[in-house]
Amino acid sequence: MAKYSSKINKIRSFALSLIFIGFIVMYGGIYFRTSPIIMTIFMILGLLFIIASTIVYFWIGMLSTRTIQVICPGCGKTTKMLGRVDMCMYCREPLTLDPTLEGKEFDESYNKKSRK
Ligand SMILES: [Zn+2]
Repeated sequence: MAKYSSKINKIRSFALSLIFIGFIVMYGGIYFRTSPIIMTIFMILGLLFIIASTIVYFWIGMLSTRTIQVICPGCGKTTKMLGRVDMCMYCREPLTLDPTLEGKEFDESYNKKSRK
């Protein structure tokens, strides 16, 4: 049923994958240890990925302050939602704050329309 996951979870896994890419790139640099320039380039690239993920984690922190705590009607747990339409973090029940969207098919584009 759910091909979407909660937005914050999605961003969090993106940040986590950035850290992994950063470490893989830095690890790749070890193979070029005979050439200090290439190795330095790999190290800097890897560091950039890790810095990027730190920024994304910081962004999650900012977003988390704007989330609304709701009790999920599906599983009864307290979950956080972001924007007008989001998904329960536990059971992926679609959640909405907008009564006009209630009962409609879950669509993340509602959020994009509501922004800006
Ligand atoms: Zn739930």
